[in-house]
Amino acid sequence: MTSNQKLFSEKHTTSSSEKVIKHNIPNERGFYGNFGGAYIPEMLYPNVDELRSNYRQILESDTFRQDFGLLLRDYVGRPTPLFYARNLSKKAGAKIYLKREDLCHTGAHKLNNVVGQALMAQHLGKRRIIAETGAGQHGVATATVCALLRIPCTVFMGSKDMARQKPNVMRMQMLGAKVIAVESGSQSLKDATNEAIRHWINHPADTYYLIGSTIGPHPYPDLVARLQSVISKEIKVQLLREEGTENPTHVIACAGGGSNAAGAFFHFIGNGKTRLIGTEAAGEGVDTKLTAATINSGKAGIIHGCKTLLMQTADGQVVEAHSVSAGLDYPGIGPLHAHLHQTGLAEFIPVTDTEALEAAMMLSREEGIIPALETAHALAALEKMAFKPTDVIVISLSGRGDKDLQTYQQYFTKP
Ligand SMILES: *Cc1c(COP(=O)(O)O)cnc(C)c1O
Repeated sequence: MTSNQKLFSEKHTTSSSEKVIKHNIPNERGFYGNFGGAYIPEMLYPNVDELRSNYRQILESDTFRQDFGLLLRDYVGRPTPLFYARNLSKKAGAKIYLKREDLCHTGAHKLNNVVGQALMAQHLGKRRIIAETGAGQHGVATATVCALLRIPCTVFMGSKDMARQKPNVMRMQMLGAKVIAVESGSQSLKDATNEAIRHWINHPADTYYLIGSTIGPHPYPDLVARLQSVISKEIKVQLLREEGTENPTHVIACAGGGSNAAGAFFHFIGNGKTRLIGTEAAGEGVDTKLTAATINSGKAGIIHGCKTLLMQTADGQVVEAHSVSAGLDYPGIGPLHAHLHQTGLAEFIPVTDTEALEAAMMLSREEGIIPALETAHALAALEKMAFKPTDVIVISLSGRGDKDLQTYQQYFTKP
């Protein structure tokens, strides 16, 4: 058995595989406990059902595994290093490793998912790909892989976000993608998603909708989690080499929709050995209106096709999320994470804008790595927790900070 073949296997090598099977994989209808499912308009049913009834078989097929493994290695740049952060370790009083997803092509973990789903689209015989994007990172990743695989690509983006994230719009255009400005509603991610879905309904036969996180109707959350699970698969191998154990005492990751956290947690979920910690963007604070801390301030509801925790008013209107980080300001969270929270299998702690900004500066100065603002939310957890010297902590360094330099500069040169 090659290492590739084990990637999607549910019977993973851990001894407590029973528990692992139960909690990182949804049931037939796409439910993780009380969360998940596929709440979709009838018009979308054939599309979603086509994917649902084929995705497992395609993921397990030899051709998919071979193509995916090769692209991850030679195009994305995997395995990404697991870096022992000496200075950070000294500061925290425990061993800290950084899983360097920021070194993936295009600068974040997002490409793992996009490469996999673009291959999935080809296997399903789809000729066009559409995607939604907020800050533009998922849009850039999608435009990148579509250029490589010669698939026509359309990205829906709120017009307000297009103005705010100009460099990413230019990247997508240079890569040959068509970027469509969405003028409706708040002209940001939620409206871009609505517009992408509307387009999909009208072009069901030839179009694949490539979702950017562990959200949306079943099977998307499961599909994205499996594609990103390469992160924890590599951590196990790398940690065994460094520490003589596959299992860290802690894994820490930021959660917007939840894909980098799902990938970093996947093979550790329910193992009884590893504390899984997600950080969510609290914006100005969980008790304020300007927050994106879905788990700490949300209630059960339905958003973009699945049942999960989401920020809403008393009568169920979705509330706009706020975070200094454009990649985390989503009013919902993946159903897997809602389930992990409800069962206590993972903990989710809120991190404010200010705490994240300070953590970004801290990592830059301690280790010479400028992290993405999203990623800085994970690093801020170090300040909020107490560790033992024997603890071995892995932090998912989800992305690099080039795109956030302007925000950093504004904050740190503020009078
Ligand atoms: C998009 C993004 C995130 C948030 O998305 P998840 O699906 O929660 O991982 C986090 N970090 C970086 C660098 C991103 O680009």
